[in-house]
Amino acid sequence: MGSDTKAISVKLNGSGLIRSHGLIGGKWTEAYDAKTFEVLNPATGEVITTVPFMAGRETNDAIASAQEAFPSWSKLTATERSKRLRKWYDLLISHKEELGQIITLEQGKPLKEGIGEVAYAANFIEFYAEEAKRVYGDIIPTTSPDRRFFVLKQPIGVVGLITPWNFPIAMITRKVAPALACGCTVVIKPSELTPLTALAAAELSIQAGIPPGVVNVVMGDAPAIGEALLASSQVKTISFTGSTAVGKKLMAGAAATVKKVSLELGGNAPCIVFDDADIEVAVKGTLAAKFRNTGQTCICANRVLVQEGIYDKFADAFSKAVKSLKMGNGFEEGVVLVETLVQDAVSKGAKILAGGNRHSLGFTFYEPTVIADVKNEMRISSEEVFGPVAPLLKFKTEEEAIHIANDTNAGLASYIFTTNVQRSWRVAEALEYGIVGVNEGLVSTEVTPHGGMKQSGLGREGSKYGMEEYLEHHPHILGKWDGALRMMVYLGFC
Ligand code: NAD
Repeated sequence: MGSDTKAISVKLNGSGLIRSHGLIGGKWTEAYDAKTFEVLNPATGEVITTVPFMAGRETNDAIASAQEAFPSWSKLTATERSKRLRKWYDLLISHKEELGQIITLEQGKPLKEGIGEVAYAANFIEFYAEEAKRVYGDIIPTTSPDRRFFVLKQPIGVVGLITPWNFPIAMITRKVAPALACGCTVVIKPSELTPLTALAAAELSIQAGIPPGVVNVVMGDAPAIGEALLASSQVKTISFTGSTAVGKKLMAGAAATVKKVSLELGGNAPCIVFDDADIEVAVKGTLAAKFRNTGQTCICANRVLVQEGIYDKFADAFSKAVKSLKMGNGFEEGVVLVETLVQDAVSKGAKILAGGNRHSLGFTFYEPTVIADVKNEMRISSEEVFGPVAPLLKFKTEEEAIHIANDTNAGLASYIFTTNVQRSWRVAEALEYGIVGVNEGLVSTEVTPHGGMKQSGLGREGSKYGMEEYLEHHPHILGKWDGALRMMVYLGFC
């Protein structure tokens, strides 16, 4: 990994996509006090570059730029906005290798996964380039012959987008694409661990003809930037993806200006394997659901609930599959937490079937691990592990599995493996989760809504529903006046 990333580093010198400034009003900008911070390669600890350490003042400038750009961007025809988004998509795809390299450098995931993430991220832009043309209003039936009701959907205004490090580009495009499609302008605050990918994507948005001020990027002092976004009455909504703790802070802070928030927070996904599951499908699906991005996705299976009749057979096949996984991914700081949770479970009687140690690759690496005999009360079952550890819990009945699965404050993704069709929909409907995968370990797509129940979040991203976060609904109630009829004819409603 180390030598790979060095090679990438050399290749990227002179890359047109590496930016070392924030983006405000179309200009690459320093912090007012010229303060900077280092962006590190997590696999080697080397400094890739430095970027401005921005705070409230720069964020206010970015908000002002977004506000200035809003009238013309929102009034552009949907077809024109769609064309620019489509061009941005084409540019992301034609630069996917270079962008993938930037992700690998600053985030540490293998290059293949980095490039794969760019393609996944670009899908959101392509999808919303089309959705831009489908922001329809409603005509509401009325019982009165003298009145007509219709509803226009209009862009909400300037929006603040705060994103995490685990998917440095996809978590951004999942928000920016619908926001821009609706006619909103944005201030993006990427994770301080992965700002270069965000800046590279923003550079390509400029090349795509998205006007200055529509896309702004600031980073540095996260709480100060968050406060400035919350305090501004020009910012109409904040869309956040990250930890539940920070999400709660933002939600409380939004009360001061009665701002809308949409929150994509942590999960504690159950993966339920029933006796009647196809074991090969269950092992493959659980592996994908658990070890994708080294266990560091919000929808990763956090607890594997296995019915008693298939428990030993599954534990054996699953551990074998886990032992064959190749190491080499960069694991961020979570390693210490992962280790503590594993030790806690083992001290309470759980048994390690595979892995269970830090890896010789370095302090940020933990082996892919399977622990058997885990109980619902153990910390490893109730907390989001966010690492490559699969705890196996045994259950007897369908009711017990549903009870254990729902016994948590989180409610993002869940998984079921069964060949019984009736059971699949019965259990899927009983699970208090925003997303259910049935015989499927990969459940995130641009065409389906992504979001959580309970403390996993508010709102939905992706799909046509993702547009709603960035739209206001304006009902127009037309009374009896000849002009009203003329206006409706003019608007094409009659
Ligand atoms: P985090 O909450 O630490 O950081 C997320 C973002 O919030 C970063 O940009 C960070 O700089 C910023 N931030 C931190 N404190 C802030 C503050 N006071 N005000 C404003 N911004 C602030 O989360 P993370 O460690 O980057 O990401 C991991 C978490 O994200 C996990 O819990 C994971 O489940 C969750 N996640 C959820 C989804 C989802 O779709 N639900 C997707 C990816 C990650």
